[in-house]
Amino acid sequence: MPLKILITAGPTREMLDPVRYLSNLSTGEMGYALAAEAFRRKCKVTLVSGPTALKPPKGVHFIPIISAKELKQACEKQFKRHDILIMTAAVCDYQPEKALTRKIKRSGVLKMKFKQTPDILKGLAKNKGKKIILGFCLETENWIKRAIHKCREKNINGIVANYISRSHNPFGDRKVQTALAFDSGAVIYYPKLSKPQLAKKIVDWIFLQKSE
Ligand code: C5P
Repeated sequence: MPLKILITAGPTREMLDPVRYLSNLSTGEMGYALAAEAFRRKCKVTLVSGPTALKPPKGVHFIPIISAKELKQACEKQFKRHDILIMTAAVCDYQPEKALTRKIKRSGVLKMKFKQTPDILKGLAKNKGKKIILGFCLETENWIKRAIHKCREKNINGIVANYISRSHNPFGDRKVQTALAFDSGAVIYYPKLSKPQLAKKIVDWIFLQKSE
């Protein structure tokens, strides 16, 4: 039986008014590379993706979403029928408290209230069972310590930690220096890799868990 892998990718967009949104710099490269690699290794792949400039890899069941709310709905629907979840999506942490139905007019300083979006991964991991769940995080400081903490807090198998600094920009089609951190505090450090190379390492790790 092929492994069924659910992968999320790209940014979410939270509408401020009918024409403007809050989002982030995620390009979706990591999630798409993982989807392509998993399909190449004969897995059944569902890719849930926020808006990106990328073409969904061939052979993948593709579900486009825009907002954190849509991502949550799609993941909750798909989660049960998959063995593995890899959450690379850069979910917006905040959304406007009230979605404005009229365009915001220019009038000096703009104040808006935001509320936190739900932690989709943490919610899904409550029904983890025997599934393998991996998260991704991007930090500006204490990247390994924070990754281990997030892994414990979200009750997931591991988290791929990434960092951003003046000399290390992980966005887009670049090589990245990452590490796979576990709740035990163990860490696998990867050398600087392209995203397809890193995708291969991550799928290797998943296959290893499944063969043990
Ligand atoms: O933003 P944070 O560092 O907590 O992200 C870690 C993991 O949690 C990522 O895999 C991300 O996709 C997920 N996440 C989520 N829902 C959020 C924020 C993050 O599922 N609202």
